[in-house]
Amino acid sequence: DAKKNARGGVRLFDERMDESVRFRRLIESGLSRAIEQGELRLVYQPIVSHDTLEVVAFEALMRWDSGEYGTISPAMFIPIAEESNLIHELGDWVLGEALKTLEHWPGQYVSVNFSPRQFRRPNFVGHIVERVDRAGIAPSRLQIEITETAIFDDAERAAETLYRLRQMGFRIALDDFGTGYSSLYNIRKFALDCLKIDRSFIDSMGRERESAAIVHSIIHLGRALGLEVVAEGVETEAQVQSLRIAGCSHLQGFHLARPLEADRTFEIAEAGHVATSAVIADAPRGS
Ligand code: C2E
Ligand code: MG
Ligand code: MG
Ligand code: MG
Repeated sequence: DAKKNARGGVRLFDERMDESVRFRRLIESGLSRAIEQGELRLVYQPIVSHDTLEVVAFEALMRWDSGEYGTISPAMFIPIAEESNLIHELGDWVLGEALKTLEHWPGQYVSVNFSPRQFRRPNFVGHIVERVDRAGIAPSRLQIEITETAIFDDAERAAETLYRLRQMGFRIALDDFGTGYSSLYNIRKFALDCLKIDRSFIDSMGRERESAAIVHSIIHLGRALGLEVVAEGVETEAQVQSLRIAGCSHLQGFHLARPLEADRTFEIAEAGHVATSAVIADAPRGS
């Protein structure tokens, strides 16, 4: 009867909750050992100038080769780390690795993702400045990628933080642009260098007029504000062509190059461009 079904439903729901809580705990405890056990690595995805197909920079992306579960995507573990102080440990590790790469690396800059919690950490600016100083790297060689979520809650304070970072010479990119809550009113107050159009729009722009309109508007907005605009998740030549017509300055995506192991990035940075016809193949252990 109905009552029984309802109870069954509740029980099933509880079990699923238990399972997801258990899963989070496993990920958390695995992650907290991952750094010392050397299970983390960074891969680097080229960001390419649309005019020349020159590689101007790389985005650093985290990979976790966990002994127990295989390679785990940051899309899965970053949100879990973000709920505890683990995100700070991971973030410190990522920054250290990226700075090491930059030390001997011929490319212009590396773009590093910072989660909202890292960005809101007290003395975030002081912390980054100190790390970069100690590594002897010019701040202009580090791009800090944050999402709209990081700046939405307390726009005044975020604007102040961004202003200080930019004054120190760091580059700032707004990642996944278009999916968050930042109003255009706020955008105008933020010290930015780059807008990264979220790949969901790039993915659907060939099928939906609305997405294409949004992509065009973001490109116009970026240009009008004097910002670089990077289209994320470019997977087809048709997208490359539409983005050219729309005036998009930079491209990133599997069609140009997959995220690559560090040593491959050196070769590409030295060569300065992706082969014109160009797809750079997958990194050995996946994307
Ligand atoms: P994101 O910063 O927006 O990074 C772009 C994501 O899109 C990457 O996924 C990249 O591999 C993927 N991608 C690039 N081109 C294509 C394409 O053509 N098609 C498709 N389908 N995907 C493409 P990834 O590496 O799995 O990272 C997912 C997210 O995890 C990142 O999104 C970022 O939010 C977060 N993340 C990664 N590394 C770090 C890190 O070191 N720190 C923090 N805080 N977050 C990170
Ligand atoms: Mg990013
Ligand atoms: Mg993104
Ligand atoms: Mg994303």
